[in-house]
Amino acid sequence: MSQLVVIDHPLIAHKLSLARSKATPSLQFRTLLREISMLLGYEVLRDLPTELRDIETPVGPTRAPFLKGKKLVFVPILRAGLGFLDGMLSVVPGARVGHIGLYRDPKTLVAVEYYFKMPHGMRERDAIVLDPMLATGNSAVAAVDRLKETKPRSIRFVCLITCPEGLKNFHGSHPDVPVYAAAIDERLNEHSYIVPGLGDAGDRIFGTK
Ligand code: URA
Repeated sequence: MSQLVVIDHPLIAHKLSLARSKATPSLQFRTLLREISMLLGYEVLRDLPTELRDIETPVGPTRAPFLKGKKLVFVPILRAGLGFLDGMLSVVPGARVGHIGLYRDPKTLVAVEYYFKMPHGMRERDAIVLDPMLATGNSAVAAVDRLKETKPRSIRFVCLITCPEGLKNFHGSHPDVPVYAAAIDERLNEHSYIVPGLGDAGDRIFGTK
């Protein structure tokens, strides 16, 4: 039951094109990622359940929809996933945040875990994993493997850009986890960067190159 949702909204496409350009400096890149993740969050959480409650407007009584106590946890994969966190929290400020620290071994490209911290009560939570680039898929697979050990109620994976190789790898291991992306690019290059992509998302967010 592999699932892929490509969110192709013109506002997201425009902001993504600005983010792709190498002429865009870190400050603007960070702002764009925050704005895009807010727009993605809006779509990714479109099926959140609501319940009707009695309220009084200044004009009279009514029953109005409110979010139905759904326990969300956003899980950025460090470090580039942090670039998606503020935007997501701006649409759901009450969500909890878990962190997964993984780095890519430059020789083997295998994901190595160095940090893992989730909130309590994961069995009642819906987890939204955040990483702007789903490239080889190795980090994403490792992150979701580890997250599944905490048995969250559901898991979704949200990225900005992915590619056929990453999707194949990810859904080969986790066919039950839907992937939400703003774009599916052409391919990976010999350094496992997405082409055309946007370069190294972490470096561009944090100005480390
Ligand atoms: N990670 C990135 O930040 N960019 C890529 O193109 C691939 C992995």
